[in-house]
Amino acid sequence: MKALVYDEYSTDDNFSKILKIKDIEEPKPKPNEVVFKVKSAALNYDDIWGMRGKPLAIPLPHISGTDAAGEVISIGEDVKNIKIGDRIVSHGNLSCRICSACTDGREYDCKKRQIWGFETGPLWGGFCEITHLPEVNVVKIPDNVHFDDAAAASMTLLTSWHMLVGRAKIQPGQLVLVMGGSSGVGTYGIQIAKLFGCTVIATASPDKLDKLLDLGADYAIDHRKENWHKEVREISKKITKPFGDIPGVDVIFEHIGGEHWNKELTLLKYGATIVTTGATTGYDAKTDLRQIFFKGINILGSTQGTRAELEQGFYWMSQGKIRSIIDSVYPLERASEAHAKMLEGKGLFGKILMKP
Ligand SMILES: [Zn+2]
Repeated sequence: MKALVYDEYSTDDNFSKILKIKDIEEPKPKPNEVVFKVKSAALNYDDIWGMRGKPLAIPLPHISGTDAAGEVISIGEDVKNIKIGDRIVSHGNLSCRICSACTDGREYDCKKRQIWGFETGPLWGGFCEITHLPEVNVVKIPDNVHFDDAAAASMTLLTSWHMLVGRAKIQPGQLVLVMGGSSGVGTYGIQIAKLFGCTVIATASPDKLDKLLDLGADYAIDHRKENWHKEVREISKKITKPFGDIPGVDVIFEHIGGEHWNKELTLLKYGATIVTTGATTGYDAKTDLRQIFFKGINILGSTQGTRAELEQGFYWMSQGKIRSIIDSVYPLERASEAHAKMLEGKGLFGKILMKP
């Protein structure tokens, strides 16, 4: 079967030098596994880290791809709930299922946790024709959800759901600020906050602000402006004034970091929450501690989520309340082009997919 493989790390981000289409042996299921024909797979930033061999030296030869959707073609003898022919999508968080974190319902805190298609291998990921996963690491796709929408959602929808629902525990009526609303996690973040009855202010570059409003954001702000945070404060004043409340936001959905971090902290109400899952513009952010202790702010980290949360997200996709935003679709043969587009990020809105 056909697979997108690399045997060495990239030294210059010119991925066309290392990515090759190879013919490799078709996998057979272990007793607890399902084997499936990949119909659609989504790109993630961990594909880039894998090819660079930094910050982790991942196993070689390597097949990337953490989010894959497809049709089951064989199952192991211990598989209980999945049948041949089922439409499934990966839940790429491979945890031990035995440790105290796992059995406490926090599989994302498992010390043995591995991200499928990134840390796994050799030759075990989603960018190929046929792949395999433990039964516990796949979720059935609702009948009315397309393979492409499922592949785009997988890890990204899960990350956003866990940040807002699992960690920040958003409530109806709250004012939620979604930073980077046009990214994969941002597009789901806006829709999840709306699903929960929140008022949403989302940020992006000026060319994408209309798209944020189309997704359901109540307000869209250009966070490249020096004083973007003052605009957010003005909006919060308008919202809170009729109720005599102190202006500010209740929850910030953060994955940008860098110089925005300190400005974000000034926007939080007393007792409010900021939940972060990334730092695309820099991890070495300055923090004004007065903003934290004086206002009793909660700073929450978040990564991945649980299989049950992914199922909840897919339920709401089947109800038409959450949709995937797909930027573009490439064949596996044009993978280096697709990865270059993700890396550059210019004009990107939503997820990039590949098909074998
Ligand atoms: Zn564990």
